[in-house]
Amino acid sequence: MKTLRLLLGDQLNQKHSWFRGNQEDKIYFMAEMRQETDYVVHHIQKIVAFFEAMQIFSEWLKNRGCNVIYYRIDDKNNKQNLTKNIEDIIRKHKIEKFEYQLPDEYRLDQQLLQLEKRLSIEFQAYDTEHFLTTRKELADFFQGKKSLLMESFYHYMRKKHDILMNNGKPEGGKWNFDQSNRKKWNGKLGKPKQGKITSNVTSTLSRIKNSGVNSIGEIDPENFIWPTSREESIKLLRHFCKYLLAHFGDFQDAMDPDEAFLYHSRISFSLNSKLISPKEVIDTAIKSWEDGKIPIGLNQIEGFVRQILGWREYMRGVYWMSMPSYEHQNKLKNKNNLPDFFWDAKTSMNCLHNTIRNSLENAYAHHIQRLMITGNFALLTQTDPDQVESWYLGIYIDAIQWVEMPNTRGMSQFADGGLVATKPYISSGSYINKMSNYCSDCIYDVKQRTGEKACPFNSLYWNFLIEKRKMLEGNHRMTMMFSLLDKLEKSEVTAIKKRAKQFMTKKS
Ligand code: FAD
Ligand code: SF4
Repeated sequence: MKTLRLLLGDQLNQKHSWFRGNQEDKIYFMAEMRQETDYVVHHIQKIVAFFEAMQIFSEWLKNRGCNVIYYRIDDKNNKQNLTKNIEDIIRKHKIEKFEYQLPDEYRLDQQLLQLEKRLSIEFQAYDTEHFLTTRKELADFFQGKKSLLMESFYHYMRKKHDILMNNGKPEGGKWNFDQSNRKKWNGKLGKPKQGKITSNVTSTLSRIKNSGVNSIGEIDPENFIWPTSREESIKLLRHFCKYLLAHFGDFQDAMDPDEAFLYHSRISFSLNSKLISPKEVIDTAIKSWEDGKIPIGLNQIEGFVRQILGWREYMRGVYWMSMPSYEHQNKLKNKNNLPDFFWDAKTSMNCLHNTIRNSLENAYAHHIQRLMITGNFALLTQTDPDQVESWYLGIYIDAIQWVEMPNTRGMSQFADGGLVATKPYISSGSYINKMSNYCSDCIYDVKQRTGEKACPFNSLYWNFLIEKRKMLEGNHRMTMMFSLLDKLEKSEVTAIKKRAKQFMTKKS
């Protein structure tokens, strides 16, 4: 039966069972589309990475003897819309059956379900064979339970997949070694040795530019730093295990203006585009730990495994459990505009300047920069979560809605009212000073709460507690914060409010 098989840009899984069977009557369809480049303004490196990776994947398919229809963004046959392209190809090629792998994003899932209703030919959906859980597994796991604690889901995943387990008990007698993972980086170990991927993406970049796609951020097309093939992804992963994993946990939360990546793996694009699978990332890392050739502490390997086996699968489960209503949640009723400097890094706040500058240069910031610098500031300034989300969804190389949304709207902006996070991730400047080297070079004084030189995070933090008190004081994890707030002098409260107002952008 003549079958059309759709491959979306983030379905680049060479190990999928689709590619093992007879390919004679199958046609694979891949397309670079304005539908995908235009739903938010993306970082140019993100668009380039996806299109490069898709082209490399289509070449791999062709080399295996598969029939491939690949539409470039400037192809005259390209209708720039998924539904229209598929209907057109089905008609032109007299297709008898349409097959696709389940999309990870709700909007694409809906689009394909709508298409199914319109098509008169046979239709079949397959699993992507990428994740360690099904779409519904987290919802089933938490059914009837009061809260959605990631930690309990993580224990379930460790047991279920027998990862870092020893006779049914967690390796080392503890599930989580996060307490030992809060070190500030001081450079004494020397510069972390970053894995080098440098490909030339000039032709993909010119095609995108010539098509008039709007984008943000910078790019060096002759030295593109992101892995866009399976081989490069494996190379980067091995490099991480050899040179960086040994300190991953220790410096996971550390920040430094001169080290954009520190000991992080930079594996998120490869994972999210499915060039590599979470299981092989975990297995490779655990093998390095077991080999013992490089001494890797249990806190380092457990910290890394938790991100992928725990957080990544957890976020996906939360997304599928909560969509479509999740997309509109704004429990704290935040309505202010995202500050303009999020788009050009022009701010005298050194932590924000460096985090946003890195994001514009590399389409990357690590977790704590996303959570405790940009996310923290957006939340403290009570920014509309829709605007915060558009920014996160556009700027990062790994941003796909299923993982971006629960992280941004949920964990970072508390817009789901505490489904993902047990309390808002907010802090004054003192946390930033503790975990980074930003404050020593800042024009603001991290120790002052009020006055012209005072660190803006300080007044914003207290002002947030004052203004959101009614919504948050029932949260027992915030009792301490509110009792400290009550100890402030009245005059200081007035000064805090005045100072905070200077950094709050007008309502949208
Ligand atoms: P490492 O620090 O080396 O971690 C290894 C891997 O663990 C990552 O590649 C990622 O796959 C996984 N991981 C770690 N933390 C998380 C998490 N909280 N949720 C899901 N997976 C996790 N991650 C995305 O993949 N896409 C996003 O759009 C995204 N948006 C985020 C937005 C906000 C506001 C925050 C706070 C976090 C977001 N994250 C997102 C999670 C995390 O910041 C990135 O996965 C990580 O920075 C990617 O860099 P890395 O590969 O070097 O990660
Ligand atoms: Fe950021 Fe405040 Fe430190 Fe400046 S002093 S870098 S604004 S935390």
